[in-house]
Amino acid sequence: MIKRKERIDLPNALLMLVIHVLGFYGFYKAFTGAYQRETIILGVVMYCVSGLGVTIGYHRYFTHRSFKCGEVLQTVLAICGTIAIENSIKSWVSDHVMHHAKVDTAKDPYNATRGFWWSHIGWILFKDPDREDPMYSGAEHLMDNPASWIARLVEFQHKFYYPLVGFFVWGVPMLIASLWGDIWGGAIFAGFSARLMTWHGTFCINSLAHWKHWGSSQPYSRANTAQDSLFASLPTFGEGYHNYHHTFPRDYRNGPLWYNFDPSKWIIYWLSLASLSWDLIRVPREKIEAARIATLAEAG
Ligand SMILES: [Zn+2]
Ligand SMILES: [Zn+2]
Repeated sequence: MIKRKERIDLPNALLMLVIHVLGFYGFYKAFTGAYQRETIILGVVMYCVSGLGVTIGYHRYFTHRSFKCGEVLQTVLAICGTIAIENSIKSWVSDHVMHHAKVDTAKDPYNATRGFWWSHIGWILFKDPDREDPMYSGAEHLMDNPASWIARLVEFQHKFYYPLVGFFVWGVPMLIASLWGDIWGGAIFAGFSARLMTWHGTFCINSLAHWKHWGSSQPYSRANTAQDSLFASLPTFGEGYHNYHHTFPRDYRNGPLWYNFDPSKWIIYWLSLASLSWDLIRVPREKIEAARIATLAEAG
């Protein structure tokens, strides 16, 4: 249900339309064998790079500060996240902090109580004047020290967001695909089709991971709609253990158990072995267990 004061967000809606039409066209061409194998691989790589840019970069690093890293990795994560076309870091972080603080209420940007499709895509297509936040509150921690690399990086990415998107989403794949003479395949499949996959993958965190479905559970808290789900973790690089994440948002792991499918946590951990990330935040096992037992008791 769309509120009366909500208006369609025309630039977002047009971008959605173009990415969907050309993205599906790219899939059609791929299934009919029009692209070379290298182009398909490039598309899959761009999907993974952008998806992990959102989960490891935008989400676990820039928003929740669940680990520390140096300037080079900060920059790599910002570039990978830019490829996802999910807004600038500043804007994404602000929305996500609000999501955690006001989950399932009218102030939650992707309020799941308004239905699956609202939290999946509706909130992007419709603009609610009450939801607009020109101050980007929640993202202040990134700008604590204006002279720091992270503050300058975030400001630069915000200011030059669209040229950066143009360059990294289409320019780079076209350049790479020109090596095997498939510039347009690079633009369509690695630009549009890969983006369609990244989008619906990450959109599932706001919709599917807040939606009771086959195989989903709420082991750590029943205070909100967030679910733990292996099924939701598959297209989201491990973000489907969302009940745990809403209970312990600072933990670098979304799936805390060793067998939880959480590639983002594995990569952050591997990076720490190479000293590229450090101070990984891990909620103690006893605290996790206490939350699980309390939830079980609550359920009766
Ligand atoms: Zn959530
Ligand atoms: Zn989060």
